[in-house]
This record gives sequence, C-alpha cells and structure tokens, in this order.
Amino acid sequence: MKGDHNDSLDNKNILARMALLRLQRANILGYKNHSEYVLEEQMAKKPENVYNLLDKLWEPALKRAISERDEMQKLIYAEGNNFKLKSWDWWYYAEKLKKAKYDLDEEELRPYFKVENVIKGVFGLATRLWGLQFIERNDIQKYHPEVKVFEVKEKDGKHIGILYTDYFPRASKRAGAWMGEFRRQLKKDGKIVTPIIYNVGNFSKPSGDKPALLSVDEVHTLFHEFGHALHGLLSNCTYESISATETPRDFVEFPSQVMENWAMHPDVLKTYAKHYQTGEIIPDTLIKKLEKASLFNQGFETVEYLAASFLDMDYHTINKEITDVIQFEKESMNKIGLIEEIIPRYRSTYFNHIFSGGYSSGYYSYIWSAVLDADAFDAFIKSGDVYNLELAGKYRKYILSSGGTDDSMELYKKFRGQDPSIEPLLERRGLK
Ligand SMILES: [Zn+2]
Repeated sequence: MKGDHNDSLDNKNILARMALLRLQRANILGYKNHSEYVLEEQMAKKPENVYNLLDKLWEPALKRAISERDEMQKLIYAEGNNFKLKSWDWWYYAEKLKKAKYDLDEEELRPYFKVENVIKGVFGLATRLWGLQFIERNDIQKYHPEVKVFEVKEKDGKHIGILYTDYFPRASKRAGAWMGEFRRQLKKDGKIVTPIIYNVGNFSKPSGDKPALLSVDEVHTLFHEFGHALHGLLSNCTYESISATETPRDFVEFPSQVMENWAMHPDVLKTYAKHYQTGEIIPDTLIKKLEKASLFNQGFETVEYLAASFLDMDYHTINKEITDVIQFEKESMNKIGLIEEIIPRYRSTYFNHIFSGGYSSGYYSYIWSAVLDADAFDAFIKSGDVYNLELAGKYRKYILSSGGTDDSMELYKKFRGQDPSIEPLLERRGLK
C-alpha cells in the first residue's frame, strides 16, 4: 500500500501524469509510445520483442509457481490448519518447505567461502580462461587503507589496467556492491589509454579470530561485480562513449551475471571453496545440496519479477491517459493471469525503478540479460569443458572487448554462433 493512501504522499496521480507526459514526448518525437522511443537503442529494439520474451517465460513460471503454492497449501492442511494461503503467508511457508525439502543450512557453507579464497577463485578463473595475471601493488596510491590494488596483465606480461577492490563495510560507505571506473578505456592518437577500475562491496567482515567468511549470496555478488570489472578491463575500443560497459541497458548485466554460473559450478567451486580451518575442499554432498536449493521458490521469484516487468511495459505502451491507476494495474495483472497469492515485485505506487530510477520500459532488462548469460554458459557446458579456451577467446573478443561498438545481438551471435535460446534459463530455474 506504499504511496497509496490518498494523502499528500499518494503517488497515483503523479505516476499517471508521468506516464502521460512520456507518451506525449514520444509522440512529439515521432514514436507511437514511450516504449518504442526507449527500446530503439536497446538490444530488444521493439516492445513486441520484450512482450514476446516475457510471454514465453510467463507460462512455465506461472505453472511452477502454482505448484509451489499447492505444495504450501498441503503443508497448511498437514499442520492441521484449515485456511487458504494468502500472499502474506508465502515466505513463511516457503521457508518451512525449504527446511523440509532442501535441508540446507547457509551457515554450514560459509567456512568454505573465506573471502581470500573466493578472490583467489575468481582471479584463478580469469587466469584459466584468458591468461590474466593479478599482481598486488603496494606502491600505488589508494583512497583508503582497506583498499587493495592489483595490476592486471596479459599472460605475456603486457599491462592491461588497474583493479581496486574495496570489499568491506565501514562508516560513511554506501550499502550494496558495484563496479565503477576511475578511468575508462579509450584510444587517443593511436595509443591505448588503459582502464582503472574498482569493485566495491559490503561483505561480511572478519570478526574476532574468524576471517571474513562469505555467504553464498555474497560469493555470487563478488563474481558478479568482477564480471563488470572484466568488461571494463578487457575493453578494446576507440571511443570512450561506447567502450567498456557503455552498452545497451539490456545487455550490460550479461557479462556480470554470466560469472555467477562459473562461481557455483562444481569444477570451479573445487578450485577455491576450501574450509578455512582444515583446507578441506567443499564436499560433493554440500555441492549437491547447493544445486538443489538453487531451484527453491524459483516459480514465485520469476513470476513476481515478470509481473512487474509486464506492468512496466503496459505503462509505457499506452496510447491515452490513465484515469484510474489501481484499475489499470488490476487489468494489467488480470491480462496475464497472475494468481492472487502473488503480488508483483513492485506495485505501481512504489515502482521506483520505472518512475524515478531510469528503468522506464527497462525493468525487463534483468531477465533479458539472464537469457543471454544462461545461454552463453550453456555453450561451455555443452562443450564439456567450463574452461573451454576457444569459447573463452570468442567471448573475450566479441563481448568483453567490444563495448557498445556494434549491435549487441550481432556481437552475441558472433560469440555464440547462433541466436540465444531461453531453454537454458528455464532449465536453470527449474521451470521446464
Ligand atoms: Zn550488475
């Protein structure tokens, strides 16, 4: 109900007006609607292409979410209760199911993810795939004593760039994790200006005599941001405005998300997930549990995300003023058949991403990139080698080095040799 109380902080009229102004601007510029205007420069190109992808994912995701709901309902009855599951019950019963079905204690995993080991893992992966070397430098200025500086070099010793890592929380530091650039790669007078990149996080800190032990989520995040860093470091473009991560929005999360696949693959896990006290490599039983648990609640998560993506698209493909926001949202959700036990990840009155966060007609981007990252990693899996050097070479050349210098889909196809398929994503989320 946030922003929906018919008081001075109510957002309904404001957002309806914003949607209308966006429509009018698009019309003035010669576009049918705001979506067409925004998407022209994105990988998706047209609203139809976005709807097409969302539709294809919606059916299997909803089917899975319904079966998750039914499972929880059974649990309610089994516990001797007689009420119907409501949206606010979902997480409570999902957690119960998780315990019963997956038996995974996150804390059991942490000892295998000492931050130094995870960093060794991610650097080691880049060495295996692209021959990169990471040399810690103590003679380079840094902005805080906790920051580490690495010089990144090619296999043959050629300088690539500088990577700063700043992984722990401290007072005055913004929450979250991100990648940024002190200097973006470009070419000037025929010479390469090398990149200076940073990765920031707020990971679990060392405490007492315990080192920093990361959660599985944090391991994902570290690999994710490192993927953005590689996109910045391995860029080989002329113009700064289209180099490195200056790509369409629906493409930019692909090089980061793809790294998360490697992070949790058994062959890679075994290179770095070692117990901080005993040095024991993560046992297969734990890896199996981890794999199984990754399918937990994926119907729900995909559905609540897709519902918000549809809502975003609907707001930005209107051709007339919206007079009743709540009714508009309701119709939008009815159209896709959203079940009442799930509400969209963001409802209209607090959908920050699209009304103030710069993601208007762009909330779909996350899953668009996810289709690419799942499909790209599938190429490695199908080759039988997650360290396939030929694929890694193509990936570097067409994806990591090319920035926004060509149409993203063309670049993708040059790397992959075919169009991306949604099947690997469906499989990864257990939606098949
Ligand atoms: Zn990212």
